[in-house]
Amino acid sequence: QLHNSYLNLKGNIRVFCRFRPLLPRESEEAKVVFHEDEQSITLQSEMLRSVTGLSEHCNSYEFQFDQIFGPQATQLDVFEELSLLVQSALDGYKVAIFAYGQTGGGKTYTMDGPRDTTTVAAVPDTDAGVIPRAVDLVFREVEELRSKGWDFEVKCTLLEVYNESVFDILGPRNSEKERSGAHGTDSRQAIDHFTERPVRDAAAVHKLLAKAARERHTAATALNDRSSRSHAVFQLSLEGHSQASLPSRSGLLSLVDLAGSERVMQSQVTGEHLKEAQYINRSLSALGDVIEALKRKKPGGHIPYRNSRLTMLLKDSLGGDSKALMFVNVSMCCQHLPETLSSLRFAAKVH
Ligand code: ADP
Ligand code: MG
Repeated sequence: QLHNSYLNLKGNIRVFCRFRPLLPRESEEAKVVFHEDEQSITLQSEMLRSVTGLSEHCNSYEFQFDQIFGPQATQLDVFEELSLLVQSALDGYKVAIFAYGQTGGGKTYTMDGPRDTTTVAAVPDTDAGVIPRAVDLVFREVEELRSKGWDFEVKCTLLEVYNESVFDILGPRNSEKERSGAHGTDSRQAIDHFTERPVRDAAAVHKLLAKAARERHTAATALNDRSSRSHAVFQLSLEGHSQASLPSRSGLLSLVDLAGSERVMQSQVTGEHLKEAQYINRSLSALGDVIEALKRKKPGGHIPYRNSRLTMLLKDSLGGDSKALMFVNVSMCCQHLPETLSSLRFAAKVH
């Protein structure tokens, strides 16, 4: 193994919490007071009680995670904590990194960086998020490994899961993009239905991502933005062959910007929006249930992958020899406190 150090980390599912800073329009007074150290956080707010309507005695909540990033944490700080995890995909591991949280919590900022759909950054700038940095790291490593006698074949897949349908972003244009072949098959076969685009270098992937973002942007103006209501799945499959006839390696890196976790009051929405909300709730709780079941790790125990398209799709990336990391992206603004608490609770459950 090339990156043994990662193996020393406990368990194979980790949870990182990230607080985004207040936005210019959010007032300083509305800030949630919290005490953080590297692994635990205590939320305190005068408003906690009234906002949450929770127990009178409780005006502070403590949560523990593997790592906590406060509002000053940079994109680089964050990436440094997961570069070994990314690298382990080149050792043949299935690696999945998720961003969970309410809309506006900072998921897309963490995964992609500040959204800019018009430019292609060949070299990630300081604000680049996990995906562009991971892409660059993977190809740097592929080069390095080549000099050690390894050839890697890298393929990229881009999927969007919306209302329990999977859309193949790199699929042929003007053909039906939605594939429902996932029924009753195992996830590997299901993924094989989707377009895997061979990519030679990092620039090729940045270009595909920029093109996908532009298309999403165009679709957004036409149909109203659904990016916060769908799961965006980016995958790199990494097939390594040794010239010295060592066993081949087959790694997979899945980077997922999940749909917004905000609870929608069923009484407030109808029709299409109600259906969307139900699908999102169902798939996020299915994801939570799978992670929880994996953590309990009863030998031969049932893992409920089948309960959503998302968990079926990511079956190989969760469990077995895989490594998973979930970001819980939350806001410091007290207006978002109920959602912040609910996100932290969800994340604490899978931690
Ligand atoms: P989400 O994808 O969860 O809906 P976004 O990533 O779009 O949330 O973040 C909401 C807003 O907050 C965006 O304007 C984004 O640029 C900003 N933002 C999020 N996280 C950070 C951060 N760590 N530092 C600075 N700005 C951030
Ligand atoms: Mg987003």
